[in-house]
Amino acid sequence: MNTAVDLHYKLRCLETGEILSDVDAPLSNPNATQPAFLRTEYDTKQFAAGPLEDGIYRFERWMPVRRRLEGSSAPITYQSEGLARHLGLNRLFITFSGYWPERGCRMLTGTFKECEAYSVCARTPSDSDSVLVVASAGNTARAFARVCSDNEIPLVVVIPEGNLPSLWSIGPLSDCVRVIAAGRDSDYSDAIALAGTIASLPGFNPEGGAKNVARRDGMGTTVLSAADAIGEIPHHYFQAVGSGTGAIAAWEASLRLVESGQFGSRKMKIRVSQNAPFSPIHKSWQQRSRALLPFDEQEARRQIAAINAKVLANRKPPYSLIGGLYEALVDSDGTTGSIDNETASSAGELFLKTEGIDASPAAAVAVADLIQATKNGTIERDEIVMLNLTGGGVDLVAENEDVRLIPPTRIINSEESDAESVDRIMKELF
Ligand SMILES: *Cc1c(COP(=O)(O)O)cnc(C)c1O
Repeated sequence: MNTAVDLHYKLRCLETGEILSDVDAPLSNPNATQPAFLRTEYDTKQFAAGPLEDGIYRFERWMPVRRRLEGSSAPITYQSEGLARHLGLNRLFITFSGYWPERGCRMLTGTFKECEAYSVCARTPSDSDSVLVVASAGNTARAFARVCSDNEIPLVVVIPEGNLPSLWSIGPLSDCVRVIAAGRDSDYSDAIALAGTIASLPGFNPEGGAKNVARRDGMGTTVLSAADAIGEIPHHYFQAVGSGTGAIAAWEASLRLVESGQFGSRKMKIRVSQNAPFSPIHKSWQQRSRALLPFDEQEARRQIAAINAKVLANRKPPYSLIGGLYEALVDSDGTTGSIDNETASSAGELFLKTEGIDASPAAAVAVADLIQATKNGTIERDEIVMLNLTGGGVDLVAENEDVRLIPPTRIINSEESDAESVDRIMKELF
C-alpha cells in the first residue's frame, strides 16, 4: 500500500476524539470501546463545487477520494413548481438522483446509491488487489456493479435471491463483478450476514456500509448540491430510510456547511420516513428510545415481504451507535414517519404528474411524508424544504437504454452458508 499519499482529510473517532490517518481506509477506530462512527475532517472548511462535467467529483473537496472514476453524475437540485404549487409551498427544492438526462442527471442505475459507489470505490487505493464485498437489497448492488465494471474493480455483490429482478445493468458487465444470491426466502439481513462471512475470508474486503466514511460523504453530496443551488441550508430535509445512512450523511453535510459559515447557521431538521408496516426506526424514535426497540423476527419477515419499497427493509440500522441516526434526530430536532404502500404509491403518481418524472417506490415514501407534514402544518409555507428524491427515472432508463438482468454467479442457500462451505465456494469462483 502506498504510504506516501498526501490526503486532503483525516478521520476523527466520534467516541474517543482520536484523529486517524486514512491511509489504510479503516472502518472504525481499533481503540474505541463502543460502537462509534469515524467522521472525515477536511483540511478545507470552505465549500466550493466544481463544474457539472466533473460528475460527483465536483464535490471532491469534501469527499474522501484519492482518484476520479469514469461515468459519474452528481445529484441535481432544482426549485419545484408543480408539486410546490400543489402543496402550497413557496420554497420547495427537489434534489434528484437518478436518470433524467433533460435535467442533466444521468445516474444509469437510477438511485443515489451511485453517489456512494463512486465515492467508496474512489477511496480504495488503486493498487489494492483485494475483492470488495457489498451486501445489497438491490439498488446498491446495481450501483456498485456499474462502477466496478466500468473501472475494472473486483467486486462481489451479495443480494437476496428474491431481489434479483432489481439487479439489472445497461449492457453487459465485466467479469470482475460476481453476484452471489442468498438463497430462497433470505432477506437483506441474511445477505448482510453472508457478505460478512465472505468478507472475512483472506483476499476479500468488506465495503463496510454506514461505517465507511466514503459511503456517507458520497450520499452527503445531495445536501451539498442543495446548498450550492439554494445558497442556504434548508429548514427541512425529507428522505425515506432503511438504514438511515443517507440521513446521517445529510446531517453531517449540514454540520459542515454550518462550519463553513457560507450558508448561515441553521440546523436542518432531518425528517425520515419508512414504509409501513416495517418501521423499526420510526417506532423507536416515537418512544425516544436510543436503543432500537426489539421486534419479533418472524413478524419482521412478514412485514418486509409486505412492503413495496424493499430497499427500505433494514433490520439493523446504524441508529443507536455514536454518531448514528438517533443522534442526528436529536441534534437536528428531527422527525420520523411511517407510510403505507397505498399512500406511497399515490404520492408517486402525484410526483409524476406534477414534476414529470417517475419516483422510485422508496422516494415516493418521502414524497408522501412531505405531503403529510404539509397537511399537519409542521412546515411554514415560506420555509426552505429539501426533498431528497433518492431514486427516479427508472421508467425512462428502460425506454432509452439496453437494460438486461444480471444473472447470479452462484446462489448460496442457508445450509451452505457456514464459513467453511462459503470458503470452499469462493475458492471455486476466484
Ligand atoms: C437505499 C435507498 C434509500 C434509503 O437510504 P438509507 O439512507 O441508506 O436508508 C432510499 N431511497 C432509495 C432509492 C434507496 O436506494
